[in-house]
Amino acid sequence: MKSAIYPGSFDPVTYGHLDVIRRSANIFDELTVSVLNNVGKSALFSVEERVKMLEEATKDLSNVKVDSFSGLLINYAKQKNVHVVIRGLRAITDFEYELQIAQTNHKLSGGELDTMFLTTSLEYAYLSSSSVKEIAYFEGDVTPCVPDFVAKELYRKYHGT
Ligand code: ADP
Repeated sequence: MKSAIYPGSFDPVTYGHLDVIRRSANIFDELTVSVLNNVGKSALFSVEERVKMLEEATKDLSNVKVDSFSGLLINYAKQKNVHVVIRGLRAITDFEYELQIAQTNHKLSGGELDTMFLTTSLEYAYLSSSSVKEIAYFEGDVTPCVPDFVAKELYRKYHGT
């Protein structure tokens, strides 16, 4: 069985992430979307909230599981016995950072862990969790960027409504 892990902050999940999830789920038998509990990065949503939103957004995809992890990705992947990591590329600016991480993971895992990149679908190329948060903060319409229930959670966080 071919399995992969799609790790990320998902703070919150956007249609860009969901596009990568759907396409990866078509390639692999099993996909684990895993929220990184990153102590060095302050997030708007707790790990539990992010997991819950991802579960709701992927509930129609039977081979997608949602999880969370902290620490090194190579250790998490080893524990899960998974050898492929999925990451998305929006623009050349993502590439430099992603290349370095992919090579580091490959080296640190003794060649056990490979990273596969999916390039963004053009309609989502502009989308990022940070821009979505900024739009919601200034009371803009985020419904083209995230599922409705995520838009509601964003408004609740920022405006209590
Ligand atoms: P990070 O994991 O770097 O904190 P994110 O949680 O926002 O960032 O993203 C997780 C992964 O999804 C990254 O590989 C990122 O490049 C990718 N990604 C984010 N937004 C999009 C998008 N609109 N289209 C394709 N890939 C995306």
